[in-house]
Amino acid sequence: MAWVKSPTSVLRDIGISQPQEIDLDFIAFTLNAEVIYEPLQGYEANIFGSSNKAVITVNSDTIESRQRFSLAHEIGHWMNDRGKNLSIECSTGDINQKQNAKGMSARQTREARANVFASHLMMPDFMMADLSDMPVNMDTVRYIAGTYNTSLVSSAGRLIEITKKPAMVALWSHNGTRRWFNRSSSLSEFIWPLQSISDIEQSFVESNSLRISDTKWIDPRSAKGHPVTECVYDNGYDVISLLSW
Ligand SMILES: [Zn+2]
Repeated sequence: MAWVKSPTSVLRDIGISQPQEIDLDFIAFTLNAEVIYEPLQGYEANIFGSSNKAVITVNSDTIESRQRFSLAHEIGHWMNDRGKNLSIECSTGDINQKQNAKGMSARQTREARANVFASHLMMPDFMMADLSDMPVNMDTVRYIAGTYNTSLVSSAGRLIEITKKPAMVALWSHNGTRRWFNRSSSLSEFIWPLQSISDIEQSFVESNSLRISDTKWIDPRSAKGHPVTECVYDNGYDVISLLSW
């Protein structure tokens, strides 16, 4: 990721070294960005800035973990997209924009970078090294979410980025459509999850560290019938699946 200012350098400049010190409002304050919480119609957050001062507004009509992520996302814009006049309004789609989509527009690239910035500002690599050998399951995801005050979805995403184990996270709509997925660095890039789940009644039953066949979640062209460890969790909006080999 090409940064103008990386999340790690923002934290180090302020002297933040512990998870409980990651106070996003304080970080914004030290970066000369005023933060306002108020209802916004159709947007999660926005930022308006000059060369050295910004005002960030976060939609107060959403859950707290979403507000925190949106604020971290806007700090990402402030650190990496500022120019003479900065004016960005970020929709739900922008806050969910992933960087692994193909053929991204300039806006999608900018939004995906702000999202990577946000997750790394809230869950920094340099604080999470001891998690790389922990089991890829919901206990570890909940531990991350509790330690860093982050959502289960973003915590699961970071666990897959950090773990040394071959593993995969996927997010599914309740109708069985795959929304996004990510592989750990040690999992073969030839292993693909299904595009959609047909038997949602059976597949979306919650589990934690259950041994199942990879054919349940993996595309038939790359599934081998091998056992994998599965965790399934429904957060009320979507279904998270974690697999480790
Ligand atoms: Zn944005």
